[in-house]
Amino acid sequence: MKVKCVICDQIESIPDDSPEAKKLRNRPIHTYMCNSCNQRIEQRTNERIATGNFRLYRTIKTEDEW
Ligand SMILES: [Zn+2]
Repeated sequence: MKVKCVICDQIESIPDDSPEAKKLRNRPIHTYMCNSCNQRIEQRTNERIATGNFRLYRTIKTEDEW
């Protein structure tokens, strides 16, 4: 099946019987992320954890409250 990355809008094709495809079919809202975006986010998350500054969700919430 064809999937679109929510971050960079890249269209990718994944095997119909892959766990990813099954997950996406079960949910109407597509939250697919391509490999490069996945890795980028993972890397960023790891960097934050490494610096002891892991406040991703709190930071977003704070900005919304402004
Ligand atoms: Zn992407």
